[in-house]
Amino acid sequence: MGPRRTEILQKELGISTWGQLLEHYPYKYVDRSRIYHIDELQPDMPFVQLKGKILSYEEVSTGKRKKFAVAYFSDGHGVVDLVWFNGLKYIYKNYKVGEEYIVFGRPGVYNGRFRITHPDIDPASELQLSEMGMQPYYMTTEKMKNSGMQSRGMERIIKSLLERISLSSGSDVNHGVINETLPPYITGPLHLCSRDEALRWIHYPQSPDEMQRARVRLKFEELFYVQLNILRYASDQRRKYRGNIFATVGDIFNTFYHQYLPFELTGAQKRVMHEIRADMRSGRQMNRLLQGDVGSGKTLVALMSMLIALDNGYQACLMAPTEILAEQHLQTIRDFLGDMPIRVELLTGIVKGKRRTEILRALHDGSIHIVVGTHALIEDTVQFHRLGLAVIDEQHRFGVAQRAKLWSKGENPPHVLVMTATPIPRTLAMTIYGDLDVSVIDELPPGRKPIQTLHKFDTQTTSLYQGIRQQIQLGRQVYIVFPLIKESEKIDLQNLEEGFDVLKQAFPEFNLSKVHGKMKPADKEAEMQRFVKGETQILVATTVIEVGVNVPNASVMVILDAQRFGLSQLHQLRGRVGRGADQSYCILVTNYKLSTETRKRIDIMCETNDGFEIAEADLKLRGPGDLEGTQQSGMAFDLKIADIARDGQLVQMARDEAQRIIDDDPTCESPQYQLLWNRLRQLRKTNINWGAIS
Ligand code: ADP
Ligand code: MG
Repeated sequence: MGPRRTEILQKELGISTWGQLLEHYPYKYVDRSRIYHIDELQPDMPFVQLKGKILSYEEVSTGKRKKFAVAYFSDGHGVVDLVWFNGLKYIYKNYKVGEEYIVFGRPGVYNGRFRITHPDIDPASELQLSEMGMQPYYMTTEKMKNSGMQSRGMERIIKSLLERISLSSGSDVNHGVINETLPPYITGPLHLCSRDEALRWIHYPQSPDEMQRARVRLKFEELFYVQLNILRYASDQRRKYRGNIFATVGDIFNTFYHQYLPFELTGAQKRVMHEIRADMRSGRQMNRLLQGDVGSGKTLVALMSMLIALDNGYQACLMAPTEILAEQHLQTIRDFLGDMPIRVELLTGIVKGKRRTEILRALHDGSIHIVVGTHALIEDTVQFHRLGLAVIDEQHRFGVAQRAKLWSKGENPPHVLVMTATPIPRTLAMTIYGDLDVSVIDELPPGRKPIQTLHKFDTQTTSLYQGIRQQIQLGRQVYIVFPLIKESEKIDLQNLEEGFDVLKQAFPEFNLSKVHGKMKPADKEAEMQRFVKGETQILVATTVIEVGVNVPNASVMVILDAQRFGLSQLHQLRGRVGRGADQSYCILVTNYKLSTETRKRIDIMCETNDGFEIAEADLKLRGPGDLEGTQQSGMAFDLKIADIARDGQLVQMARDEAQRIIDDDPTCESPQYQLLWNRLRQLRKTNINWGAIS
C-alpha cells in the first residue's frame, strides 16, 4: 500500500500492521452465489445479483445543476434502471454500454419500474462465480472511501495480503506467516480450526459453515485471552498480598446476632455470611462481589461482616456513592446497633472543620469502629488505625482504581466486599468483575408482595391521579420521578419545577416534598427527612432517589417519561417501593410515540420483577458497551468479534479453559504453557485496554 492510504488507514481505524489489518473483520456477509433473473424481482427483496448489459444511458436533470444518470440494464428477461446521483463521469467512463457486468444491489420500485440505486458493478469476466460464495462487508469511513478503500477496496487489499502470506509460508522467505496463538491441547479437544484457517475463512468463507467455524475460533480466542488475563491478575494478587485473618466470631457479632437482630436471616443471607466468613479467615484477601436485588437485605450482611472485623480488632468502613445514601446507611447501622458500645461515624464532603479533624483523629487512633462515607474516605488524609474490611455499596460508581486505593490504607490490604443491586449477568460479571468472587442473595425477606407494574400514557392523568389519591388515603406515600439527564439538565429541571407546581395544584389536600441533585445538601436532606417522617405524602424527585433510599411506607413509584430511562435504572427505581407489607405499585408513564425498543423495555418491566432477567434483557437490548458502569469499572470493551451478550457459552468455555491452565501452572513456569504466557504478554503490551482490566 502506498504511504497515503497507509496513513489514512492508521488515522481512521488505527491499523498500522498487517496483523491488525487481518483483524479488521467483516461486519457482515452477503451470499453472492446466486444470480437472479430480472423477471424474478420482487419489491421487497434484499440484495440481489443480476448479470447482463447496459443498453443505454440517460441523464435526467432535476433543477439547477442537479442531475442524475440512469442506465437501462437488461439480462434478456427484463429491464431495470440503475441510478447514480453522483460520480457520473466515473460511471460513464468505467461502465460501458454493451459489455457484460454483474450488478449487485437492493432493488426498489420507482414509478412502477425496478431500480437499483448506486449498485456494485463488476465486469462479468473478472468475477468467477465459484469464488463468489459469501461476500464480506467491511466497515469503512468517508475518508477511506475517497481513497479507494470502500468495502470492496478493503476486500481486495486483504485478499492480496492473504495470498502473499500463503505464498511465503513454508518457504525460507519470511514475508509473514500466520502464527498459531492457541496450542493443540486447546484447539484439539474443542475442535477449533487453526488461526491460519480462521483468518482466511473469516475474510473469504466459501460457505456459511466455514464462516461459522472461523467466527467460533476467533471469538473463543479473544474471550480466552481476556479470561486468562483476568484470572492471571487475580492469581498474582492473591500470591502477592496476604489477607488479614479474622479467626474469631466474637462477642460483638454474637451479641448483635442473638440480642439485637430483629428478625431471622433469610436462607440466602445465611449462605452468603458463610461464604464471607470462609474468605475472611482463609488468609487470602477477600475480594467478593455481593449481588442481590434491591431490598434483599445486603446492608445487613455488610453490617454483620463488619462486626466480625471488629471482633478481630479491626476497623471497618462502608463507602456509598452519594451523601444521601451514606447518611441513610449511617442511620440504618445506628438503628440496628441500638445501644451497643460501637462508635459509628459519618465522613463525607460536607463534614468539615473541627468535626472533620476530630473524626480523622479518631479514625487514626482507632476509637471509631465503623465509618460510613463517600469518596471522601479514600482521600489521603484519611488514615485508619487498622482497617480490616471495606464495604463498597453500588460498585458501579466506584472504579477499579478507587478500589485499589483502599488497599494502601492498611499493612495488609483490607478485605473488600462490593455490594451491587444492579444484577449483572454471569457472563458479564466474569468479564468486568472477573477478579472477584461472587455471592448472590437470591431471596427476598419474607412477607414481601411482588410489586405490580403498570404502563400508562401521559394522557391518562385522571386515572393516574385517582390511583395516587386512593393509595395516600390508605395511608401510603408516593414517589414521583422526573428524568434528569446531564445533557438536557436545564430543561429537565424546569420540567421538574413546572411538574411540581402542577402536582401541588392537583393534590391540594396533601403535602409534597421536592428533591433534586442541584439543591444544597442541607435542603435536600431536610426535604428527604420530611418524607421519611411521613410529614409529606408525595416525594417529587429526580433519580437522586435511585439507590438505597428506604421508606417502607412508600408503596407507589410513578416514573414519568419512563421511555427516557434504561431498564436497569427503571428496575432500581422500582426497588424503592415494595419494602413494606403492603401491595406496591410501579407506574411507568410514557408518551404515545414509543420505539420498538422502548416498547420492549416497558413490556419487560411489566412482566417481571426479577432483576437478573431484566439485566439479561438489558444486556441484549443495549449491548455491553452501554451497560451502566462498564466504563468506570475499568474494563473497556474492546472485543473485535466476540459479543458478551450473545456468546455466553463461549465466555464460559473460555473461562473454564483459562482457569484450568492457571491452576495447572500458577507461577507461569511450565514449558508447555509458554506459548500462552508469551502471547498474553504481547497482548498486554499492544492493547492498552488490556492493562486496565482487573
Ligand atoms: P438492599 O440493601 O439489599 O437493597 P436492605 O439491606 O436495604 O436491602 O434491606 C431492605 C429492608 O429489608 C430493610 O428494611 C431491612 O431491614 C429489611 N431486612 C433485611 N433482611 C431482612 C430479613 N432477613 N428479614 C426481614 N427483613 C429484612
Ligand atoms: Mg441497599
